[in-house]
Amino acid sequence: MLESLINTEELPIVRGKYRQNAPLGETSWFRTGGTAEILFKPLDTDDLASFLYSCPKHIPITVVGVMSNIIVRDGGVKGVVIKLGREFANIKAKSKEELYAGASSLDINVANMAEQLGIGGMEFLAGIPGTIGGALRMNAGAYGGEIKDILLCAKAVDRQGQIHELTPDNMGMSYRHTTTPDDYIFTEAILHGAPENNEIIQKKIAQIKKRRSTSQPIKSRTGGSTFANPSDDELIAAGLELGTKTWQLIDKAGCRGLKIGGAQMSELHCNFMINTGNATATSLETLGEEVKKRVFEDSGITLRWEIKRIGEYCKKS
Ligand SMILES: Cc1cc2nc3c(=O)[nH]c(=O)nc-3n(C[C@H](O)[C@H](O)[C@H](O)COP(=O)(O)OP(=O)(O)OC[C@H]3O[C@@H](n4cnc5c(N)ncnc54)[C@H](O)[C@@H]3O)c2cc1C
Repeated sequence: MLESLINTEELPIVRGKYRQNAPLGETSWFRTGGTAEILFKPLDTDDLASFLYSCPKHIPITVVGVMSNIIVRDGGVKGVVIKLGREFANIKAKSKEELYAGASSLDINVANMAEQLGIGGMEFLAGIPGTIGGALRMNAGAYGGEIKDILLCAKAVDRQGQIHELTPDNMGMSYRHTTTPDDYIFTEAILHGAPENNEIIQKKIAQIKKRRSTSQPIKSRTGGSTFANPSDDELIAAGLELGTKTWQLIDKAGCRGLKIGGAQMSELHCNFMINTGNATATSLETLGEEVKKRVFEDSGITLRWEIKRIGEYCKKS
């Protein structure tokens, strides 16, 4: 159990739900890691905003989606972890080319709804197992598409409970990154595409699913790409060919299949880390750091974690 940082009487009265020492890591895609000191599921945006306004500022706040890109450290997460529930999972048509998606909607559900509505351009979302909130924070992308390309506007609430309307222009979105302040919690997005025949969309989604199932360990306990691809500047500085991908660097450094405890770099896609069954969050993180070290020694590139690590480090192997 976490050493408590919160006196629960300090927490604001909310309409949503609090849960103390809630399982967190075991509900992440890696299925390992510690608990949340307090898990808060707001009922709606007003509930979230009023919680953020009233919550004492010494209490740390962390937001998660479905944790398909997160390692929850074994020591657990202190403070309040906010997870938007099904109240934020509404997806509906706005016009022939636009749809509304709450931030906890799964990307795959948005892709499927776009297919039903005949809105093309959102098929790539079928290849990303996270939520719209996670996609906005990570500028998630796959198969040539990125959320920034289909984003019209989004709403987010800051730590003071202020609601902000954002557009891609003021969100500074680039490869797996946004400059949107860290304390902003996305609550919804309006996405746009172009009218398209449903069957064509369906075929594109089917192709994406097929490609993924043959190139990624999607049935494993994983967190997607462990490290981001290096930038052109980094490749030039290291004297490497432009376009070199992280998986190639990992492979060249001999880390395909590398194992520490129950954590392993996937044989199928060596930038994917997997929990083979009994990995701790510490063993996953240690493996990542070992891969970073070996890649640096081999190619001079310092890999950047794409996976977010949250919570307290704990020496558990
Ligand atoms: C098998 C597999 C394949 C993957 N393939 C891809 C891929 O092709 N392309 C790709 O881009 N990613 C891929 N990923 C990674 C992951 O799915 C994406 O990064 C996804 O966007 C994360 O969404 P999430 O809801 O799981 O967010 P989480 O993992 O829970 O969180 C990720 C980050 O987003 C923040 N966040 C989450 N919700 C909100 C919110 N409402 N407001 C503000 N911040 C928020 C968190 O604080 C954290 O910093 C893959 C993952 C797996 C497991």
